[in-house]
Amino acid sequence: MSFPAPKSFGPKGEAEPQNCFARWPVGSAPAEPMAAILDLLRQGERFLVCSHTRPDGDAVGSMLAMGMLLEQMGKQADLVAADRVPAVYRSLPGAEKIRWVLRVRGIYDAVILLECDSVERSRVRGLEPYFHINIDHHATGRNFGHLNWIDRDAASVGEMVHRLVKAAGATVTPEMARCLYTTVLTDTGGFCYGGIRASTFEFARELAVAGADPVAIARDIYFATPESKLRLLGAALSTLQHEGKLAWLWVTHADMLHARAVEEDCEGIVNYAISIAGVEAAAFLRELPEGRIRLSLRSKGKIDVAALAAGLGGGGHENAAGVTLDGPLERATAEILAALKAGVDGTRD
Ligand code: AMP
Ligand code: MN
Ligand code: MN
Repeated sequence: MSFPAPKSFGPKGEAEPQNCFARWPVGSAPAEPMAAILDLLRQGERFLVCSHTRPDGDAVGSMLAMGMLLEQMGKQADLVAADRVPAVYRSLPGAEKIRWVLRVRGIYDAVILLECDSVERSRVRGLEPYFHINIDHHATGRNFGHLNWIDRDAASVGEMVHRLVKAAGATVTPEMARCLYTTVLTDTGGFCYGGIRASTFEFARELAVAGADPVAIARDIYFATPESKLRLLGAALSTLQHEGKLAWLWVTHADMLHARAVEEDCEGIVNYAISIAGVEAAAFLRELPEGRIRLSLRSKGKIDVAALAAGLGGGGHENAAGVTLDGPLERATAEILAALKAGVDGTRD
C-alpha cells in the first residue's frame, strides 16, 4: 500500500514519523479537536477537501471557505466533489474551483472530509490510503477518520469552519462570509429548523458584519428556481398522500424526464409534505434511473428520522435525514411507511 508523502506531522520535539499515519490511529477524537486540526493544517502543505455526494449549500459553502482558509495559510487546497455543484451555488465565489471527479490520485498530507459520516459518503474513489480529517455535525456522525471533530450542536459544518478560521487568526473576507452564510441559511432551511440556537444568529451576525449580504444570498438561492423544478414539483404534488400525522409524495424517473428535471430539482420537495398542519413526519421518494429509490425524510420534532434512516443504511439529522433504498417504488414506499408509522405511534400528543 502506498501512503502519501511523509510530512512533519510528529508531535513537537519528537522525531518525525515515517508518515502521518504513525501519529494518529483511526478514530482519534482529541479533547481539543479544533486545535489538533489547526496544528495539522499548519504542518501540512497539500490538502484535498471534499464533502458528501449531491453537495448541498453546507457542503459547497464549507468546502469553499475551507479552501479560502488554506489559501490564506499558504497551503495548496484541491476541492473535489463526486457530483456537479448545483446551479444555485455556482455563483458562490470560487465555486468553479470545485472539480467534479470520480477518483483522486496525487500526493496530499491529508484529506479533509466535510459533512460525511464515512469515506464512502463522499462517493469519491481512491481516498482510502490518505490521512482523513473528519469534520461533521450530523446526528449520525462517526469517528471514521484519523482525526475527528464532530459537533452535533453546530447549525452547519460552515459554523465549525468559521471557528477554525478565527482560531487560525485568518481573515473572514466578504467572499468567505458569503460562502459561510450560505451554509447556515440552507442547513437551517432559512432559519426555520430545529437545532437553531442563539449562537446560530451570532454566527450569522458575524458573517453579515464581515460582508455577507443576507438579502442577495437568499435571492440567489430561493428566487432563482429553474422552470424544470416547478414542473417536477407539480408532478410530485399530484401524488401527495396524507394519513394522520404522515404525508408522502414521490416522482418516478419518467416524471423526471418529462419535466426535464435534474437531481438538484428534487431538493426541498419533501418540505411541502412536512408543511401540512398536523403532519409530524414526511417522506419524498425519487425513483433513480437504475431503479433504486432515493428517500428524503423530514420531521417536526418528536420523531427522530436520523435514527430511522440510519437503521436503513442512511443517516442525517434528527429532523432531516436520507437514505437510498432498493426498488421498486411500491416496495420502498411500503417499507418507509411501516417504519414511519411505528415512529409516529411512538409519539403521544
Ligand atoms: P436530504 O433529504 O438529501 O436533503 O438529506 C437530509 C439530511 O440527511 C442531510 O443532512 C444529509 O446530509 C443527510 N443524509 C442524506 N442521505 C444520507 C445518507 N445516505 N447517509 C448519511 N446522511 C444522509
Ligand atoms: Mn449536507
Ligand atoms: Mn450540514
